[in-house]
Order: sequence, then structure tokens, then C-alpha cells
Amino acid sequence: MSANRRDFIKFVVAGAVTAGCPIDFSLVAQTGDPQKTHAADVDGEDNRTCHQVRDGKVFTRPPASSRHDVVIIGGGVSGLSAAYRLQHRDFLLLEKEPHWGGNAYAMEYEGSRYATGSAFLTKDEYAYRFAKEIGLEPLPVNSPDASILRGELILDTWGEGLDKLPYPPPVRESFKKFKKEMLAIDVEKRGKEFDDKPFSDFLKEYPAELKQWWDNFGPSNWGAASDETAAIMGISSLQEMAQESGGDDRYTWPGGLGAITRKLAEILQPKYTEHMQTGATTVAVVSEKDEVQVTYMLGGELKTVAAKAVIMATPKFITRRIVDGLSDKQSDAMHQIRYIPYPVVNLIFDKPVFNHGYDTWCPGNTFTDFIVADWVIQKHAGYQQKFNIITCYTPMKEDDRSQLLSENGARKVAANVLSDFQKLMPAFNVDPVEVHIYRRGHPLYMSTPGLYRQIQPLVRQPMDRVFFANTDSEGPESTTNEGILAAQRAVKQVEARLAGKPMPKDHAVAG
Ligand SMILES: Cc1cc2nc3c(=O)[nH]c(=O)nc-3n(C[C@H](O)[C@H](O)[C@H](O)COP(=O)(O)OP(=O)(O)OC[C@H]3O[C@@H](n4cnc5c(N)ncnc54)[C@H](O)[C@@H]3O)c2cc1C
Repeated sequence: MSANRRDFIKFVVAGAVTAGCPIDFSLVAQTGDPQKTHAADVDGEDNRTCHQVRDGKVFTRPPASSRHDVVIIGGGVSGLSAAYRLQHRDFLLLEKEPHWGGNAYAMEYEGSRYATGSAFLTKDEYAYRFAKEIGLEPLPVNSPDASILRGELILDTWGEGLDKLPYPPPVRESFKKFKKEMLAIDVEKRGKEFDDKPFSDFLKEYPAELKQWWDNFGPSNWGAASDETAAIMGISSLQEMAQESGGDDRYTWPGGLGAITRKLAEILQPKYTEHMQTGATTVAVVSEKDEVQVTYMLGGELKTVAAKAVIMATPKFITRRIVDGLSDKQSDAMHQIRYIPYPVVNLIFDKPVFNHGYDTWCPGNTFTDFIVADWVIQKHAGYQQKFNIITCYTPMKEDDRSQLLSENGARKVAANVLSDFQKLMPAFNVDPVEVHIYRRGHPLYMSTPGLYRQIQPLVRQPMDRVFFANTDSEGPESTTNEGILAAQRAVKQVEARLAGKPMPKDHAVAG
């Protein structure tokens, strides 16, 4: 790859924490051709001001320069859908990044879309109906998950694939026995019991290969390996996967659920330009007698606005540092939510490398699974794949978070992903034209035992004029759906507060 091409990439992604730079060749060379060259494009969230807030910096708050009905903080899917529902109000939406979308954000490479986070939704989720409401037609995945195990591609792992697992017969049988055991559990009836227990309790009697499969699957979906996962998550997931092989109810768009945030921004931005501000990092939310004052940093300047109500659509590790006056109990509950570092690495190939299925699990590698970015449009009449973009989900351990802080560290993560991918099967030993890593320090909360029933009801308690959205308010798993539901609930609470009516029920309400 020529230096000119790298400069061009640098230019395209300018605006976020970014650098166009070569991958550490020593890592790639371990398995690939040492003569080959690779480039990495490092992009990710901007946390400079958030880190100052974390480190206890006190910002001097200027007086309020404008007044609004509602200020919404955080322009991920939760904040955007709250704004969508509050169009009849004078709202102000503040987002720290230079773009909307949060963890549901898609990017493009020469016109081909790929995900940097959220991948798919299911038909029974409210998000499916919401997508239709805003004019998006969900596209069916129709491809039960595959795995690559010991160099073999096993399609429909938890369906017909169980007979083909490349393991000795007793191990194969134990996968089947486990599935049967999990399908027999009534999760509706025993929800509370299984929310408190770790999932690993159910894996104890089984061979290591089974635990390895789940310790790979869990971090990608809900941020935790089986020892730290609420059992209900594992059991329900297996039940859902068993359904997939009979009829997959997952839907998405090229580039994943970033399609929803993009569409919301497209609808709202032209109509409410003055009411939507990117690059605005909120540093303080202070309740006064009849209003709430919100101070944010924009272009190096601090600004304060006042609101009758505020919706916090930011994750709780940030929320608890900027909302003044939280009770110790609520702040402690927010503090108990754990979040994993979770970069997403996109390998962009200019020739077909893998198009056999949507989501493929790869235990034993630096990434957990990969998704084919344009899978849901590949069969559309007249579609021609220009780039085969492979989106590698790369959840990391909390202790390894600091690797992402430096560009060099992030580059190494990307290089390891590429190297592992190329080793999976002989046909994968192909050079991508580019490698993009989107790094996020705390994007996915962990579905730990007790979180859903004990912690989350506390964190979403309204505080007079301050209301709490974001997916981490709802649970049990971080999903785009829960982010939208959290927004719906917060909007209803705001309307009730502004009308002087009693608060609606605590739980998220669709519709
Ligand atoms: C790798 C990955 C894969 C995933 N896959 C799926 C999937 O397949 N299906 C699914 O349903 N879900 C998936 N999820 C989860 C889903 O992406 C999230 O649950 C959802 O996007 C959360 O939206 P949110 O608006 O609640 O929060 P966020 O997306 O976290 O939005 C919060 C916003 O607040 C902004 N912000 C933070 N601090 C401040 C501040 N001080 N001032 C102003 N703004 C601030 C942030 O920049 C961000 O834009 C995945 C998540 C990840 C990370």
C-alpha cells in the first residue's frame, strides 16, 4: 500500500481520535508473509473531557445562556429516540462525539457500510417495530450461527452442526446433552433464581470444549465469560439459538444497527438543527429549585443551559460523575455496573474471502466472532459485492483496557485480530486492503449475576427533574432495543413531571 493511500485514509477519518499508520509488522509476520504490507486506520471515541471529569476536575459553570423544556444528554440510540419522541417540545440534544450513534454507529469504506458496534435485532423486540415506524425495512439474516473449530467450518452450530463438531464422540454428545438440558428449563418461571446464579454452575459437569464455546460467546454478547454471567443469559441465548435453526428471527442492515441511528439523525437534523449539538461534552448537571442547569464543553468553551427536565442517555459510569446530588445508594448502584473494553476490527478485502454465513464463532482467538457486513443484501437482485468486509468482534478483559489508550496498543490489537483471522482456514490467508479498528473503552455493560433485578431498578430511579435512559438502565443485556425502551420510559416520566402528574410505572413501556 502506498504512502499516498494512507494519507488519504487519515483524511477521511479526521475528526475523531485518529491516525493512519502501519500495523506492527512483527505481529503480522508471525503467521503471514513478512514481505506483505498492511495499514491500520485507528478510529474511536473521544474521551478527553470525560477523563478530566473522571479525574475530579471541577469546571467553573457560566450562567445559563438559554432555556429549554428538556435537555437530552448522549446521542446514542437512546438519546436520539428520546429526541424523536420529544419533537413537540423545545428539546436540546448534546453528544460528545462529532457524530451521532454511540455504540450503534456504522461507517463506510468507499460506499460499503460496516458496523463499529451493534449488529442485529430480533423480530419480537420493540426495536423492530420502531425501525419500521421511522421508515426502515428490517432485512432478514436467515443464517443460524456457524463456528470455526479446529480449522473446520461448522454451519448451524447448535442445530445440525452438533453432529459435525470436530471433537471426539463423547464431547459431541455432551454438547447435545447440554442443549437438551437447557431447553428443558422454564426461564419465565425460574427467572429470579437464574438471575442470581453464575452460568458456569451449569457447565461444571461438562467438558472444557463446551465452556470454551460459551466463554467465547458471552463476552461478545453480554460482556462476561460464564463465571461472571447471570445464568439466565446463557440459558435464554441457547434457547434462542435453537429457534434460529428452525427459523432465524434476526434482522439487520448492512453495517448493523447503525442504520437506525443514522436514520434518526437524518429525520431530526434538518428540522431541529439548532436543537442538536455534536462535539458537546456535558461536564455538570446541577438541579436548582425550579430547573436543572446543564454545563457542557463545546469547542474549548464552557456553556450552561437550563431545562425543566433532563434525560441522561449517557452510560452510568459517566452519569454518576456529572449528575450532582445523586443519593449514595443510587450512585453506588451505578458504580457497581461493570463495562468491558470492546474494539471492533473491520478487515476490508477487495476480493471474496468469506461469504458462507452471517455470524461465525471462533473460540480460542483474539476476537470472538465475525460478521459479514453486507450479508443481508447479498441476495438482492443486481447486488454486486465490491468489498468483502469482515467485522471482527473483539471484546477484551477489563484489565486490558489500557491497551486501547495508545494508538500503538490499539494497532497491536488490530494486528492480532488480522493474524488470528488469517490462520483460521487456509482460504483466509489473504491480505485486506485496509484494517480499521474502532476502539471503545467501556461500551458494553456486563450482565453479571444480580444486575437486572437488584441494580438496574435502583439506577433508573428518577431524581425530581432528572431522568435516566441508556440501555444500562434497563437490562438484562445491553441492546439497542433496551436503549430505545429506556428512552420511551424516560420520555413518559418527563411528560408526567412537566404535567405535574404521578410518575408512570418503573418499567420500560413500549409504544
Ligand atoms: C461491539 C458491540 C456489539 C453490539 N452488538 C449488539 C447487537 O448485535 N444488537 C444489539 O441490540 N445491541 C448490540 N450492542 C449493544 C448496543 O450497541 C447498545 O446497547 C446501544 O447502542 C446503546 O445505546 P445507548 O444510546 O443506550 O448508549 P450509547 O450508545 O452508549 O450512547 C451514549 C452516548 O452518550 C455519549 N456521551 C457519553 N458521555 C457524554 C457526555 N459527557 N456528554 C455528551 N455525550 C456523552 C456517547 O458518546 C454516546 O454517543 C453491541 C454493543 C457493542 C459495543
